[in-house]
Formats: sequence, C-alpha cells, structure tokens
Amino acid sequence: MKEQKTPKLKLPTWLPLLPLRDVVVYPHMIIPLFVGREKSVRALDKAMNNNKQIVLVTQKQASENDPGAKDLYSIGILANILQLLKLPDGTIKVLIEGVQRVQIAHLIEDENDGHFSVQTQALKETQADEREMEALMRSLVGQFDQYAKLHKKIPPEVLSSLSGTDDPGRLADAIAAHLAVKIENKQAVLEHVNLNARIEYLIKLLESEIEALQIEKRIRGRVKSQMEKSQREYYLNEQMKAIQRELGESDAPGEIEELEEKIKKAGMSKEAKKKATSELNKLKMMSPMSAEATVVRNYIDWLVNVPWKQRSKTCNDLAQAEKVLEEDHYGLEKVKERILEHLAVQQRIRKMKGPILCLVGPPGVGKTSLGRSIARATGREFVRMSLGGVRDEAEICGHRRTYIGSLPGKLIQCMAKVGKKNPLFLLDEVDKMTTDFRGDPASALLEVLDPEQNHAFNDHYLEVDYDLSEVMFVTTANNSIHIPLPLLDRMEVIRLSGYTEEEKVHIALKYLIPKQFQANGLKGKELSFRGAAIRDIVRHYTREAGVRNLEREIAKICRKTVKHILSRKGRAQAARTVTPRRLESLIGIQRFRYGRAEEQDRIGQATGLAWTEVGGDLLTIEVAVVPGKGKAAQTGKLGDVMKESIQAAMTVVRGRSETIGLDAEFFQAHDFHIHVPEGAIPKDGPSAGVAMVTALVSVLANIPVRANVAMTGEITLRGEILPIGGLKEKLLAALRGGIDTVIIPKENERELAEIPKNILQNLDIRPLRWIDELLEVALQRPIRLYPPGKKRGKSLEMIEAAASGQKEKPPHTPPRH
Ligand code: ADP
Repeated sequence: MKEQKTPKLKLPTWLPLLPLRDVVVYPHMIIPLFVGREKSVRALDKAMNNNKQIVLVTQKQASENDPGAKDLYSIGILANILQLLKLPDGTIKVLIEGVQRVQIAHLIEDENDGHFSVQTQALKETQADEREMEALMRSLVGQFDQYAKLHKKIPPEVLSSLSGTDDPGRLADAIAAHLAVKIENKQAVLEHVNLNARIEYLIKLLESEIEALQIEKRIRGRVKSQMEKSQREYYLNEQMKAIQRELGESDAPGEIEELEEKIKKAGMSKEAKKKATSELNKLKMMSPMSAEATVVRNYIDWLVNVPWKQRSKTCNDLAQAEKVLEEDHYGLEKVKERILEHLAVQQRIRKMKGPILCLVGPPGVGKTSLGRSIARATGREFVRMSLGGVRDEAEICGHRRTYIGSLPGKLIQCMAKVGKKNPLFLLDEVDKMTTDFRGDPASALLEVLDPEQNHAFNDHYLEVDYDLSEVMFVTTANNSIHIPLPLLDRMEVIRLSGYTEEEKVHIALKYLIPKQFQANGLKGKELSFRGAAIRDIVRHYTREAGVRNLEREIAKICRKTVKHILSRKGRAQAARTVTPRRLESLIGIQRFRYGRAEEQDRIGQATGLAWTEVGGDLLTIEVAVVPGKGKAAQTGKLGDVMKESIQAAMTVVRGRSETIGLDAEFFQAHDFHIHVPEGAIPKDGPSAGVAMVTALVSVLANIPVRANVAMTGEITLRGEILPIGGLKEKLLAALRGGIDTVIIPKENERELAEIPKNILQNLDIRPLRWIDELLEVALQRPIRLYPPGKKRGKSLEMIEAAASGQKEKPPHTPPRH
C-alpha cells in the first residue's frame, strides 16, 4: 500500500464546525453556502477571526434544525472561507473551498453561544494498484459520460474539464460532486479514503444510476407519446369544432344538452331512460363527426321519438261513433253493427284485451277507409302498415344495431311517425305475408297482437321494451284462408263481400263524387253526373267487387273537367253533365262487355260461378267431344282440385250414359276436351263441378245449355250437389253478368237470408240437391230419355214421346237418406 501525497497542513487544535443540511463538500471544491442558523453564524464568526478555517460536516437528517453530535457524520472536510457576505435578511452567503478529508476526533459545544468546535484528524488517501487505477479511471470517466448524456443537467464543459484531470482522487471527487444522488451516497464517497475502493464504489453507483435513468427515460418517452397523442386529438377536435362553427353546421354546442333535455321530457320507461342516458354518456366521449357518434345519436333520436306518454283523448260515445261510421260509409249495415258492438265491449272492459278486428273482403270495398273511420269515431290517430310481401321478421321487429344502417322495425317507425301511444293501427293485407329463411313475420306479428305479450314488445333495434297495449289493432285481408292460423285465431273476422250495382251507384253519388270534387277543386255546379252514366261506368268500365276503379274513373272525369274549365277561361261555359253518351269522349271506349253471359244458348258450354280474391266472377266451361281413343284433356291453367272435379264429373256422366243413349264404346272411341277460357288465369276449386257435368251432358245429349243460367256447386259421384262458399259474391257476379237464373246447392239456401233484397229480387235463385234436377233447369230441353238397352236414334216412339212433351220418370231415382 502506498501513501498518497497530501499537502501538509498544520491543524489548529480546535476549529469551529459548520453542520451542512443537504450537501457534501469534497476537497478542491469551491461552493457558495447560505448560512442562517444562529449557531452556524457564530461558527463562521469564529472562523473568520481564526485563520478563516472551518470544518464542514453533513447532517444525517437534512430536516434537523438543531443537530447534536449524534446527528452528524463523523467524517467531514476542512475548508477555507474565501469570501463572506452578509445579506440584508440576516443570512450569510459564504464562499468556501474544500481542503481535506478529516475525521472528527472530539466535539464540544460552546458554553456561550452553543456553536460546535471540533478537534480533527486528517485522513490520508491510499491507493492499491496503479495499473488497475488507470483502468478504473477510464471506466469511471466512460460511465460518467454516459450518465451525463442521460442526465441532461450536467453541462458538457464539465466533461471536458474532467478529461484533463489525472489525479484519481480529485477526479472521483469532482464526479461525485456532480452526481444527483442521495446524501448518504455522497457521504460514502467522502468516507472512502482508499482510492480504488472510492472509484469502484462510484462506478457501481453510476451503473445503478444510469439504469434508473434509462428506465426513467423509457417511462418518460411512453408517457410523452401518450400525452402527445391525446393532446393531438384534443387539438384536432377543437380545430374541427371551430371549422364546423365557421361553416355554420355546428350542432356540437348544445346538441348534447338538447338530447339530454329530450330524454328528460320523453317520459320514457325506467329501462329506456337508463339506456338512453348511458348512450348519451358514450356520445359525450366521442368525436362528434365520427361514424360511431352518428350511430349513437340516431339511436337516441329514435328512443326519444317514439311516443312514451303522449296519448290522444279517446271518445267513448257510441252514438257519436255510429254517426261517424254512417257519415263515412254507405250500406255495410252488418259490418257497422259489428264494429259498434266491438267498440261497446272495449269500452266496458277498458283494456284492449278482446280479439282483434279483421276486415276480410275483395279490394276496394272500403276496408282501409273503415279503419280510418273507426279511428275517427274513437278519437284515435290513424296509422297504417302494409304487410303485403313482408317476408322478413326484421321488417316488423327491426335489425340489431350491429348492422350498418340498421333501423327499428316498421311497427316502431309507424309509432314514431304517429307520435301517440294509443293510435288505431291498421295492419293491411295480413294474408299476403310470406315465410322464408329470414324468419317468420307471422310469429313476430303474433307477439305484437297478443294482449298478454304486447305490453313488452321488443324491437331488436330499440333493445328496450315498448308498450303496445294501448294500441287498437285492426287487420285487413283479401282472403281469410291465407291468414296464418295462429293469427286468425286471435281475430274476429268481419266479411265485406262487395257491392251490387245499385249500391255502387249510390256510393258514387253520395261519397265518391263529393270526395273527388274536393280533391280536384271542383265546385258544386261545374259538373254533374247522371245516375245512368254512373251505372254505365260500373257496367262497362269497371269489373270489380269494390269501388276503387269506379272512383278512379270518376277522378279522371273530374280532372278532365277542371282542365277543360281552365282552358276556356273567360269564355262563357255551360255546366257539364256526364251522360252515358259522353262517357266515351271522357274516359275512352268501353272496356267490358256488359252481360258477360253468353248471348246464345250453346251446346257444350255452361256458365259456372267462381269466387276469387277480387270478388265473384262468371266462369265459362267448354267441352268438346271428338273421335279418338277415350282420352280426356283439360286446359285453362286448372288447379289440382279442379282437375279432380273434372274426373268426378266424367264419372257422373258415364253413370248416366245409357239414359243419354250412349253405349260404353262411345266413350272408348271419343276424346273429351274440357277447357276453361281465359286460359292464362289460374283457376282452382271444386265448385265448378256441376257446370262441368252440365257442359258434358249438353255435348253428349246434343242439347244447348241456357245462356241465362249460371250454376255453382261441388258434385259427388252419385250426382249430389254439395255446398259452396262465397255465395254473396257469386250472386253479385251473376247479377253483374246479366244472368237471370242461378242454381245453388240446396244446403246454401239458408244463407239467402243474409243476401240483400235487391239481389234476391233480380235473380231467380234455385237451390237444388241433385244434378238431374239441375239439368232440367239448365238445358234448353229435357234429355231425351232412353230406356235401358236402347241407343240414341233407335227408338222412334221415344223421340216422338219426348217431342210431344210427355214427361217420363227420371231413370235415376235419387237415393233417399
Ligand atoms: P280496401 O281497403 O278494401 O281495398 P279502400 O278502403 O281503399 O278499399 O276503399 C276504396 C275507396 O272506396 C275509398 O275511397 C273508400 O272511401 C271508398 N268506399 C268503399 N266502400 C265505401 C262505402 N261503403 N261508402 C263510401 N265509400 C266507400
């Protein structure tokens, strides 16, 4: 071990001591100190009087104001006072220079002023190995270099001044003085008298400091980039808002408040309010122009726009309701009566729990307008939703919000549109819904119409339950057969079957014409209609069960008149009257032949009556027999049921072949062709059975069928006529078609009580049970009967007997039950 040369100093025996709070002074270090504590000031005074030398020792606790001997480290430094300056506030600024490490040997407190005096022992620096020392110094400088780069507060000139130092002790002390480390570490450097140990200690200290600084830097970097990102977004958002404000499209200020206000006022259910508020909170966090914000805003808009508490004041006055229904619609007595009964019951039970009204009938008979009337009669708002062609459940219940562009279902849309919680909701065309892979709209509708469930209707978009229990639902359909059964189960069906010619004329004069006058801005005297003209429109320009086309034709005439009046402005004009003769110039040539019944009696052609969705219609059946091989052909787009009824008709006729005078070979040597004209229109149903038999018998017996007779009925193999549906529509069609006599199944006879009188008065209705009775009425003359074994043309007496009008017993005695 080698002794380091240190300047020989003669130590005075007792020196004043200055305790330092938070600094460690090393030899050769010049540093200003601010001294304020009284004891310290005394010590300085003493030093100034005594060689300007003082001992500096660091306190173990910087916060200690009045340190005792135990609060001080035992190793300090001897220093020279270079300069002393008293500041106006009583503190002293003193510039000192460290001289040498010293060990405190004795410490005493002055009796008068309490400052410390110490006796010290100089500490000599020792060094272990000179070569090792070089390496240590280089590594120390390298480490410090790295430290200085990380620790931005160390000025670069410090580094350059250090590189010039070759005294290892001085180098280590200078570096230690620049480190921002704890006082204990600094003190430890002071206390290391062995140079190798001091430098090694410093290197270790620097290493851990560098590591800490690197971690700190990394963290700082991360925090900074996060800060920058959010600051950037904030800045850009602010800029965007400013731009929007400039463009005048800013909805940002106040928009949130507006929505908040709307949510407060909407009177939502608890669940809905909670949902709306949470969505609004989300919206607040979003940038207003983002796509997400638009989705959320739309959602809240829908939520606040559906009516949660707004109701119309409903009217319970039955007499008033009756008056309104009468005012709006002509006839339909039974229908009105049933509607009033329904309203009366609803009033008694106060809740919409009863069955739902379903108005069934052909187009244009007033189903929708009846719905509107019921709304008016009960003081409800009216809203209509068409279910025609709806095949997707989502059209009724909405799409989930996860879909782009998703919306609530039509039902909620209609509710939002009408803005009241208790409207009359008309579900049009419930029979026209279809089912496919996208779900079953009927089952969704079931949920809507079920009074047990519809107080908590769940639209997929809204996500919250909506109460539909105050809505009055009315449905319409053209044909109840096509209404899904579970739905039909919940409904009370009211049938509207179509109007007679008379009724149509009435409706036109009393309702349609005034309505069209108003719609087209015509005044009372400018145009008038003759009853005969309306009848002609009904007969020749429309063929329908309802009055929709009639209304359209009337509208056309009104429009033409308005145009005519305006183009002749100023000139004298006479009031126009629509007469049958002027119709052609107003609405074109006649479209339909009135009296569609054939004008001539023909062989092999019978008139049946069909029932379609647009009401009743006449159906011509043609049969031709040609030589062939006993085959039967059927044409005219016939359905399976109709084809089967042809087979049945053939069997019925074959069973009577002998009576007609034909033998079995006849059927084998001839082909039968049965055709139902208007071949492009699909036809089906069993009720043409009797007409088929009649046409077949007519052709085989060679007797024409009466053109003024129409018939309907299903046929059994024994020749019995079975009942049919749609009697009123069929009778109406017959009347419209100019038929005089209608043959109906006996079992339908009791329904005649419900048929309007004017139909019964104008038709000769014959309820019959057996086909043979029917043939008597329908054929132009009775079948020439042949006794068993005889063939046609063989027995002259028989023919003569028939010609002289002699009646014979029908060969087929109908079986008795
Ligand atoms: P639907 O819904 O049955 O197809 P609409 O209700 O649309 O028929 O009726 C068609 C038009 O006929 C409406 O303008 C309606 O006012 C009118 N109408 C139908 N029946 C009557 C009637 N009995 N009295 C007065 N107007 C009627």
